Amino acid sequence: MLLNRLFLFFFTLFCVAPIVCLGAEGAVLASDVATPPAGVYLPPTVPQEAEAICLDCKGVGTVASVFKRKDERSVTKTRRAHQTQLATVSEFKVPCKVCKGRKRYVRKLTLQERVDWYRKQRGAYETEQTMAQRHPVGAAYAEKSVAEGLSPEEFAKLAASYPVVCKKCVGFAAIPCNRCESFGFTEVLDEVTEETVREVCTTCDGRGEKRCKSCDETGLAKLCKRCKGLGVMRKAATKRKPATIERCPSCDGMCRR
Ligand SMILES: [Zn+2]
Ligand SMILES: [Zn+2]
Ligand SMILES: [Zn+2]
Ligand SMILES: [Zn+2]
Repeated sequence: MLLNRLFLFFFTLFCVAPIVCLGAEGAVLASDVATPPAGVYLPPTVPQEAEAICLDCKGVGTVASVFKRKDERSVTKTRRAHQTQLATVSEFKVPCKVCKGRKRYVRKLTLQERVDWYRKQRGAYETEQTMAQRHPVGAAYAEKSVAEGLSPEEFAKLAASYPVVCKKCVGFAAIPCNRCESFGFTEVLDEVTEETVREVCTTCDGRGEKRCKSCDETGLAKLCKRCKGLGVMRKAATKRKPATIERCPSCDGMCRR
């Protein structure tokens, strides 16, 4: 089961990557162009699910046995004995039931985890593309020869197929909640039982995220005002030259900025 899911995950990551769906629920980064043209390299995709640290034991693999602690306490008579018991008890750990001691398992990633994933992968992707001297076309990159061979309209069309993402939410259309790191809950110490208990995060009401106002929850960068998102502009005719269509000088044909 786990192996199957892992296989699927890597398969998706490396082989089916063209369809980029970064949106939390709905914001689509990519396009209906499933397979990129030759010489065009798509940005990384972030899965909804992946192997990640166990939320219950925080990746430790064991949890303190709470039952034992309570029982021992109730039967402990003297202070000295009580402390000895606590010392033994605190070392009493049992494998975490959720991850069965494995520390990690495949689960739905939190928005914060997906954003971190994206930033890391995007950084690596950009370094790779820059090293190969490719040119940005929207959120993707193209081989220099490919980018230069495109007409201004073709360039703009390609850029619009892989729209530049919103800088604030990097395409997720939502922003992780700072207070709970997008887990949706915070941990507090119950003073009576001395146990850590989870409380629904009051900042995000357990959603783990807030809406991105910057892009109006589209996940995309704003359309260029100068060319109205077309990426191209008409250059008026002069005495010597007829009118031409050129890449918008403000967005350089990217349509969004
Ligand atoms: Zn666990
Ligand atoms: Zn945004
Ligand atoms: Zn929160
Ligand atoms: Zn423009």
